[in-house]
Amino acid sequence: MTTPHFDVVIVGAGPTGLFLGALLVQAGFTCRVLEKRTEPTQHSRSIGIHPPALERLARVGIAEAILTQGVQVDGGFGFVNGHEIGRFSMANCAPPYPFIVSLPQFETEAILEARLFELDPKALTRGFDVVRLVDSGTEVLAQSRDGAELQAGFVVGCDGMNSVVRKGLGISYSGGDYPDTFVMGDFSDSTDFGPDAAIFLGRSGVVESFPLPGGVRRWVVRTETRVNDSEANSLTAFIQQRTGIQVDANTCSMISSFGVSHFLTSSMFKGRMVLAGDAAHIVSPIGGQGMNLGWLDAFALCEDLISIRKEPTGAFHSTFARYSKHRLKCAKKARQRSEMNMWLGQSSGFGLAQKALMHMVLSPVFKKHFANQFTMRGLE
Ligand SMILES: Cc1cc2nc3c(=O)[nH]c(=O)nc-3n(C[C@H](O)[C@H](O)[C@H](O)COP(=O)(O)OP(=O)(O)OC[C@H]3O[C@@H](n4cnc5c(N)ncnc54)[C@H](O)[C@@H]3O)c2cc1C
Repeated sequence: MTTPHFDVVIVGAGPTGLFLGALLVQAGFTCRVLEKRTEPTQHSRSIGIHPPALERLARVGIAEAILTQGVQVDGGFGFVNGHEIGRFSMANCAPPYPFIVSLPQFETEAILEARLFELDPKALTRGFDVVRLVDSGTEVLAQSRDGAELQAGFVVGCDGMNSVVRKGLGISYSGGDYPDTFVMGDFSDSTDFGPDAAIFLGRSGVVESFPLPGGVRRWVVRTETRVNDSEANSLTAFIQQRTGIQVDANTCSMISSFGVSHFLTSSMFKGRMVLAGDAAHIVSPIGGQGMNLGWLDAFALCEDLISIRKEPTGAFHSTFARYSKHRLKCAKKARQRSEMNMWLGQSSGFGLAQKALMHMVLSPVFKKHFANQFTMRGLE
């Protein structure tokens, strides 16, 4: 039997791989997205979808579905030591999406998967655990754990932090853990914030609060040490103590404690294999950028693959080198922004500098600048 051949094979059907698959199929590439999980995950880790990503998701026709299912967050309240100091607004950001959409990651992935299926019902193969990739110089062979094989002109590793594509290529991935630890949980919304976010700064550490669809609210609380037995009661106690807001522990639909880290590859390609998303970079989720960064990689890579297809010689090395350089620069910028967000929320040493920055963020003079920073402008 001959091995099936595709223009591009994508390893991993997380948000990055699903979006890249939809873009490539729409652009006329033959493509397979290989996913080791047999079922979609139900974890709601990422919720924030930023304007530059929305503009690009619209290109595969799913912005409307995201807007319909998600909550449009166009601003938020800032509190310092229990006192409200102002409202942050994104209303002046560039149209057509001057807001962040809040939607649990599994719902966003379901929208992406449905669109990919509409474009090509065979594009996604679940239960295909890629264990080996061989680049012959003219094509790449992908092998699964149970011996299935596919060939492709190019392979894109969208297989997350522990990427087998990156490891197989021997590309280094350096970084480390931050000392910061958090607990997050989703509860029925007992506040008056409506579709607004709220950030509470103070000596005990930051509390962040975001609306979710269905009258639910996500709470993220910085903790001094990793809370291992994360229970709804301990999170609601932190929220009550730091914000005065009572949240009903019985309405908890998700709870998780996590540490945060940062990682970056030395390169995003080697030969005919390219990396995108968490396979290439991890930024702290505080500031909510990782998934969006993966989508911006995917969009840039699709444009590059289109330009390679037009190239009469089929040369790709310099195009992938440019892609790698630019996307790594954007990932570094995103890391710096998330580090600023974490610094703002630290408890130890919380003082004048953080307060001053919070006032600056909320001041009319700087609000457009900070709105652009928070909505991931400049990382496209
Ligand atoms: C608590 C938390 C909150 C977050 N909040 C936000 C937020 O608000 N906004 C934001 O932008 N980001 C956020 N993030 C980050 C975001 O979740 C990730 O950046 C995003 O999931 C990365 O997508 P990805 O597709 O690159 O990788 P992944 O989501 O890791 O997907 C990789 C896929 O590849 C598959 N795979 C792996 N190995 C193989 C293999 N060998 N063969 C086949 N398939 C394979 C996996 O099963 C998986 O489905 C958050 C993260 C956390 C932890």
